[in-house]
Amino acid sequence: FLEIKGIKKHYGEGESRVEVLNGIDIEVNKGEIVVLLGPSGSGKSTLLNIIGGIDDADEGYISIDGEKTADMNEKRLTQYRRKHLGYVFQMYNLIPNLTVRENIEVGAYLSDKALDTDEILNTLGLSDHADKKPNQLSGGQQQRTSIGRAIIKNPDILLCDEPTGALDYNTSKDILKLIEDVNKKYGNTIIIVTHNDAIKNMADRVITLRDGRIRKNYVNDNKIAAADLEW
Ligand code: ATP
Ligand code: MG
Repeated sequence: FLEIKGIKKHYGEGESRVEVLNGIDIEVNKGEIVVLLGPSGSGKSTLLNIIGGIDDADEGYISIDGEKTADMNEKRLTQYRRKHLGYVFQMYNLIPNLTVRENIEVGAYLSDKALDTDEILNTLGLSDHADKKPNQLSGGQQQRTSIGRAIIKNPDILLCDEPTGALDYNTSKDILKLIEDVNKKYGNTIIIVTHNDAIKNMADRVITLRDGRIRKNYVNDNKIAAADLEW
């Protein structure tokens, strides 16, 4: 469904040249939850940005349902991002003067398969907060709102870059559980960067990156491979 093939990426030139990704191959099945782990600077965000069509690879390609993102023209790429991709960031990036409901609905912009806002609010436990502004919310509620913004268009692929990085351990666990609920309910394929060990209960697959290469790529059959969650 999603093919990541031979991805190489460097930043800088000459003295300051760094090879960030040195040939990354991953095949992701539809509906899978894939967890990316790796030390700081190992290229996790870079890889997510390349998958998301925000950044270009030097070599290799991303192909979704057999269509390479590099072969898409500007219009098709925009359409791909709008229709097929949802992004959840560490910092929630909500619009301060819009309510929770409005922030979520921003994500439905130009989507032809938008989910019902009240259903999303309910799924995310935000029904009682729908009319509040971001500064009236806790961090966990803000992150739930940003997940709502990402999933309202029911994206085929949800990319999450340390979505719990700014939250305490228990709130993080709740957020991860919610992401798992979203996956079960809507069947989205999810690629998530997180170090929270609660992830071991929900990952279908764990991939660890090091020095720009995949160090491990394994199916998390019983979802309790705790010892393997180190990198
Ligand atoms: P973290 O866990 O800290 O978020 P990461 O695995 O997400 O790390 P990346 O953000 O992908 O790592 O960065 C990988 C490397 O590429 C780092 O050495 C970083 O300094 C470098 N890098 C990332 N973006 C750029 C850029 N726009 N220009 C130059 N170097 C960059
Ligand atoms: Mg990062």
